[in-house]
Amino acid sequence: MPEHTMLYKESELLPLSALQHLMFCERQCALIHVEQIWEENFFTAQGRILHDRVDRGGERPGSYVRVEYGLPLRSYRLGLFGRADAVEFHKKKIDGKEIWVPYPVEYKRGRSKPRDQDCDRVQLCAQAICLEEQLGLSINEGSLFYGKTRRRERVVFNDILRKTTEDAAKRLHKLISSGETPMAKPTKKCASCSLREACMPKLCQKRSVRAYIDTNLEGM
Ligand code: SF4
Repeated sequence: MPEHTMLYKESELLPLSALQHLMFCERQCALIHVEQIWEENFFTAQGRILHDRVDRGGERPGSYVRVEYGLPLRSYRLGLFGRADAVEFHKKKIDGKEIWVPYPVEYKRGRSKPRDQDCDRVQLCAQAICLEEQLGLSINEGSLFYGKTRRRERVVFNDILRKTTEDAAKRLHKLISSGETPMAKPTKKCASCSLREACMPKLCQKRSVRAYIDTNLEGM
């Protein structure tokens, strides 16, 4: 169970979705959340449609599972707020008592990511930490549902993933409060980035105009 230390004030909370942008690319995160640029491409449009469908519901839970869609989330410890795609409540018997245990489920386009790309798992873990703080209980696992493969990936919220999530939330607050957009570091992710046009990763990687003038034109 996390400590309920109020680290952030209500006015300092940042959207949970920004955490995923940060894990994808810090420059992308700053372009969206500092410079307020947003461009929709095929991938984001498909993801949005998937989320819209989820918000309308559609699952037929059995009697041991109840599902809530679009549940508001908030953590003062991480300094984040947002909404959960879906939270299942599994009826379990613990110490002779029947308890509804929350189980967050996040819907994603595409397929399960390799171990070194934790952005989806971090976002789900942040949702779980929000729910723990709001409901005052521990959540050990949740699932990511991938639209392309139509499969669930079970995610265990272990200490390593929790630490990665907390570190990412701290980095996010630092980035947004700096008000600065980092230089581009082109990677293969740029091919699917919704902000490639606005970012111009290859151009922005080069030295700034100021550095060029300082080096080449001074004293002319
Ligand atoms: S194009 Fe590449 S460097 Fe630029 S924001 Fe997107 S992922 Fe980041």
